[in-house]
Amino acid sequence: MNVSVVLFTSDLRVHDHPPLRSAVAGGRDVVPLFVRDPAVDRAGFAAPNRLAFLADCLADLDRALRERGGRLVQRSGDTVAEVCAVVREAAADEVHMAAGCSAFAQAREERLRRALEAEGCRLRVHDAVTTAVPPGELVPQGSDHFAVFTPYFRRWAAAPLRTPLAPPRAVRVPPGVRSGKPPSRSAVPGVSPGLATGGESEGRGRLAAWLARHGDTYEQRQDDLAADATSRLSPHLHFGTVSAVEAVHRARRRGGAGAEAFVRQLCWRDFHHQVLAARPGAATEDYRPRHDRWRRGPEAEADLAAWRAGRTGYPLVDAAMRQLAHEGWTHNRGRLVAASFLTKTLYVDWREGARHFLDLLVDGDVADNQLNWQWVAGTGTDTRPNRVLNPVRQGRRYDPDGAYVRRWLPELAGLGAREIHEPWRLTGRDRAALDYPEPVIGLADGLARFRAARGAPADPGG
Ligand code: FAD
Repeated sequence: MNVSVVLFTSDLRVHDHPPLRSAVAGGRDVVPLFVRDPAVDRAGFAAPNRLAFLADCLADLDRALRERGGRLVQRSGDTVAEVCAVVREAAADEVHMAAGCSAFAQAREERLRRALEAEGCRLRVHDAVTTAVPPGELVPQGSDHFAVFTPYFRRWAAAPLRTPLAPPRAVRVPPGVRSGKPPSRSAVPGVSPGLATGGESEGRGRLAAWLARHGDTYEQRQDDLAADATSRLSPHLHFGTVSAVEAVHRARRRGGAGAEAFVRQLCWRDFHHQVLAARPGAATEDYRPRHDRWRRGPEAEADLAAWRAGRTGYPLVDAAMRQLAHEGWTHNRGRLVAASFLTKTLYVDWREGARHFLDLLVDGDVADNQLNWQWVAGTGTDTRPNRVLNPVRQGRRYDPDGAYVRRWLPELAGLGAREIHEPWRLTGRDRAALDYPEPVIGLADGLARFRAARGAPADPGG
């Protein structure tokens, strides 16, 4: 037997792909395999935007493999059962895959290892495929993970990274392995109209073009909402169509403060992944319980509905939420302000917000979404858990002339910089002509309620 199976999961690329490169080494035949598993859907990952983006990624991966003489075998069903079936069909003796960090990925890997053992087949799990530094590789004294970002970043920045791998020149797939019908983006209902295109070609092109155009200025412009100058690589990193290792290498090679600031953001991604790998329960449970008794009932439901619809009466929050609905993506500063508003000003459970984000985000990722939500809610790794972002001040600072708000809230398009972040200040006919809601709550009232609920002074975070 001289056949390997490569199970693709969140690593849908041929460049810098250790499992694929190991599998083809020594001239072995390879079955590149992707399994569309209903259990992934049941675990809450099957949002239309991600399914549509995934369809692009699979089509592009299949194309890249065909250029090398191979193809992508696609199956539907239980991952473990399908991998075992392919192992039998191809008479394979080893399966390669990338390590995952969620509870779901860890359990899948364990089940697969046991099932393959029974088939007489070896599972080889590769690190540093979906993250730059593998979760668990860097640990502080006396703990199994870093709970604070800055010391993690210091260690991470000094850690050696593996060298990015070239794609294999040829991929030889043994005959007779059945493949199901590939998914099609156009067949997915409910996709955001402005959803980005997926796939490795798109992701690699974006990384190169973005580093060339914005790599030098990222540090100054990463929070400028209207400039839209961030990389928008998050869906590509989530689906692995861009390698995190390669992104770090390329940014470092470019050098400069902008590229270094970008690398620091990539470290945030690894940071959250190492927290989740060590504490898989943090996907649903408070990482640091604050004994919150989140608001429930009809009033809280109404506030949540207004937040989801982008109708809170706070322009920056609403603009971020409308962008999210339209594109399946929104700017980090918008995510921070919208999440702070829901969890602190409205005092609604972070899990409600995280669920809504996961329903829409094309980059929706258990580690990055849930742990960022916890960070903002103050139940996570933020060392200032009671900071509250003021959407008016944030608007003035990060969208000073209101261009971002005007882009997403056409009903405010006629307002000038002075009133765009506080439309309630308009009076008379100007106010009456505006089809825009009054604020769902006054900011001072929200702050007072949050302070009382946490039993601690709220930290006006800006
Ligand atoms: P850039 O500014 O270009 O940054 C480069 C890369 O660094 C990003 O693509 C991303 O992979 C990583 N990164 C940047 N900031 C963070 C961060 N705070 N945490 C983790 N990684 C980061 N990111 C996701 O990838 N998936 C999510 O589900 C997700 N949910 C979020 C929920 C909330 C409430 C908040 C506040 C943030 C969330 N983020 C999430 C982090 C961040 O907002 C996005 O990664 C970023 O906006 C993506 O845009 P970009 O690719 O242009 O980022």
